[in-house]
Amino acid sequence: MAPGHMIPMVDMAKLLSSRGVKITIVTTPLNSISISNSIHNNSKSISPPPKIHLLILKFPSAEVGLPDGCENLDSVTGNAMIPKFISVCNLLQTPFEEAVMEHRPHCILADIFFPWANDVAAKFGIPRLTFHGTGFFSTCASEFIRIHEPYKHVSSETEPFLIPCLPGEITFTKMKLPEFMWENYKNDLSEFMKRAFEASSKCYGLIMNSFYELEAEYADCYRNVFGRKVWHIGPLSLCNKDIEEKAQRGNKSAIDEHECLKWLDSQKPNSVVYVSFGSMAKFNADQLKEIAIGLEASRKNFIWVVRKVKGDEEKGEDKDWLPEGYEQRMEGKGMIIRGWAPQVLILDHPGVGGFVTHCGWNSTLEGVAAGVPMVTWPVAAEQFYNEKLLTEVLKIGVGVGVQKWVRTVGDFIKSEAVEKAIRRVMEGKEAEEMRNKAKELGEMAKKAITENGSSYSDLEALIKEMKSFAS
Ligand code: UDP
Repeated sequence: MAPGHMIPMVDMAKLLSSRGVKITIVTTPLNSISISNSIHNNSKSISPPPKIHLLILKFPSAEVGLPDGCENLDSVTGNAMIPKFISVCNLLQTPFEEAVMEHRPHCILADIFFPWANDVAAKFGIPRLTFHGTGFFSTCASEFIRIHEPYKHVSSETEPFLIPCLPGEITFTKMKLPEFMWENYKNDLSEFMKRAFEASSKCYGLIMNSFYELEAEYADCYRNVFGRKVWHIGPLSLCNKDIEEKAQRGNKSAIDEHECLKWLDSQKPNSVVYVSFGSMAKFNADQLKEIAIGLEASRKNFIWVVRKVKGDEEKGEDKDWLPEGYEQRMEGKGMIIRGWAPQVLILDHPGVGGFVTHCGWNSTLEGVAAGVPMVTWPVAAEQFYNEKLLTEVLKIGVGVGVQKWVRTVGDFIKSEAVEKAIRRVMEGKEAEEMRNKAKELGEMAKKAITENGSSYSDLEALIKEMKSFAS
């Protein structure tokens, strides 16, 4: 599973475990390493410490044509990756079923990419819960577009259409939709996604990494219009309390977290911009250069997490993407992290005043929980809906101006647009209003997970309902 799915799953396991639920995480060897690090860190804040069992299934490398023991689908370039990904997801059904037979859980909580989990749960007479990894707004928007197909009534991919039935009169364009949503579009992924969404609409219920106050209208809309059971139990990232826990989340950091914190401690409150595009999105050298120039021109200190497209490394262009003398000029002003960053730790620091994000749902919610306004730079998946939520509904974000879903290449954003958007979230009256609103939402997020808060209570209701299957 991709980090964006796996990280909140592990948070969820920790959270449930801290509330007395016995948890087994079923995974494959490669992911088990980072999961194990996340669970067994040296944190002293979890009380009682989580008792989470790891059950490791063999990865079907040979069956999908990978070298023995290789689990890295990232090594498969281009379109070949999708069919392999789908095959792996499907092939895990049998070993998973055998594990359920042996361990006899009272409930299965499975990612949306395992549609067969419905059948396994049915076989053992237990509920299957689905984890989408998205929020209410994007789930409602995507469902309404899927059902009503409003993009059929526009004359071009750039002509806006209103998302039918979605509160707030939100417009969208066909260009911002994944192709598997387009009419008459059929490929392996579209078929797989159809199966995944169908299974999730027929499962026992959904777990949403969100909190009621953030998306109340859309949570109500989802429950009332679609009539499905759903529990919001987030923001899940908030279950990580101390430095060790936050630093071990997902992967090992490419930098020393204490050094990073020391640097942030030396910065003025709300003065640093954090720039990160999640665990999947990568940019080519030209785009990275524009980001570098835009950041410098904004005159804000920054932490920038860089992931490059593979081709550039292969061509040995590693140094070319930074303007000449950049790192020397930026010394003390900007920190570039090449690799994994301790994101939650950084975002939660009072020195951070803005977040340039690709709007992955985890990052979006982590930005909300940290109370920072955001520059939105969606790339793919449901990120364009999340951008709408931030910029038009919550009004704590400014778009950098991306117009199209990545497909083969995404939009090219010029440095001037980067600088302008950063200034808008960092300087002046508009920025102050956004910051105040973001801080308010951050407080609400923290309240939601404390005793009697909306997420705390929903989690309690979920556990109570699942316990009825244990008796
Ligand atoms: N993340 C991180 N360090 C990184 C990159 C990502 O900790 O250098 C975490 C981030 O905090 C978030 C997750 O990885 O929890 C990324 O999920 P998201 O939904 O934002 O985006 P995706 O990676 O799925 O596109």
